[in-house]
Amino acid sequence: MTTFDEHAVRHRLKLLTDTGNAVLYENREGVDCPVCGDPFDEFYATSDAESFRPSRPVGFCVAHTDERLLLFTHEGVEEG
Ligand SMILES: [Zn+2]
Repeated sequence: MTTFDEHAVRHRLKLLTDTGNAVLYENREGVDCPVCGDPFDEFYATSDAESFRPSRPVGFCVAHTDERLLLFTHEGVEEG
């Protein structure tokens, strides 16, 4: 199981939204994604059911804790 210590990297992220059930952080300092090892763009964590409708192509990695779904987005992934 992938582990991600949100609190260990909290100071390297910028909180964008916090709804109580879900939080969205922007990755300002190239924190590595715990799933694929590449720096992610945004980190989203939710304990609720959510819909995602990205307005542009975006890749993402998914992990989870006992309580929450963790989503790490990778925008502008360049091929070749
Ligand atoms: Zn990733």
